[in-house]
Amino acid sequence: MSEIWNTEKLHAHYAQSLRVDDLLYDSKTEHQRLKVFTNGTFGRILTLDDVVQTTEGDNFIYHEMLTHVPLLAHGAAKRVLIIGGGDGGIAREVLKHESVEHVTMVEIDAGVVDFSKEYLPMLSQGAFEDPRLNLVINDGAVFMKENTETFDVIIVDSTDPIGPGEVLFTDTFYGHAARALSEHGIIVTQNGVPFMQGDELTNTMRAFQSLFADATCYLATIPTYAGGPMALGWGSHSSQSRNVNLETIERRFIAAGLNPDYYTPEVHKAAFALPGYVKKLMP
Ligand code: SAM
Repeated sequence: MSEIWNTEKLHAHYAQSLRVDDLLYDSKTEHQRLKVFTNGTFGRILTLDDVVQTTEGDNFIYHEMLTHVPLLAHGAAKRVLIIGGGDGGIAREVLKHESVEHVTMVEIDAGVVDFSKEYLPMLSQGAFEDPRLNLVINDGAVFMKENTETFDVIIVDSTDPIGPGEVLFTDTFYGHAARALSEHGIIVTQNGVPFMQGDELTNTMRAFQSLFADATCYLATIPTYAGGPMALGWGSHSSQSRNVNLETIERRFIAAGLNPDYYTPEVHKAAFALPGYVKKLMP
């Protein structure tokens, strides 16, 4: 068995190693080092600058929760914007909603899209070929600054706030995103694992509280993002979407004909229940 390990050193005092059973790709794109390898527990794994982005085995949790929670809370989303998301997993889940008419996906790195299509086709499952998807290769922060359209749901599926992803955690970016949301629109963001990256959540929540009438986070536990549940940021100009009751979510879920492996209407509602240590990170 291989003795090569991918060691992720995202945190100052904690590292995570995954055995590289078979290295399928290792190269530098214009923006970051991209690796695809197989691992007996998680299947195919995509890393950017050695940090795990997504795995064949557990990506369903992250992608379903970052997509179905805002889409079913909104209930009639037609226009969706994805920032980042180069592996196609979020696009895959968004396009399962027949109510969605148009998806704009803004990814900085064409290399991630190309290699994901070739080495991780199970992630996008044909999403890049869907005529409702408009793929834009650009920095999400630049796009947002110049954007004049409005969206019902904005999903920020970014890397961590280091390297090219850093600009997607700034007040300026969030301010432009807030302007682009429709009346009951929702923005959701990947906000790291609060036990390990508490500042990341605090900073985003501080910005969201100044921009949105409804600002909070919800949680999902994803095995490869170690250290407990991950926080997914939530912002909206109205609290209507978050306060939708369980019966309504159930009705919308059945009507959408989804068959997810993690998301359920009960999990949707429960995900907003925050433990004390997470609440204390809210400014
Ligand atoms: N869920 C993963 C995680 O947190 O580990 C991240 C998923 S990965 C699909 C994130 C994507 O964001 C990458 O494809 C990366 O190229 C893209 N990205 C990073 N910075 C960006 C930026 N400024 N604008 C648009 N896309 C960006």
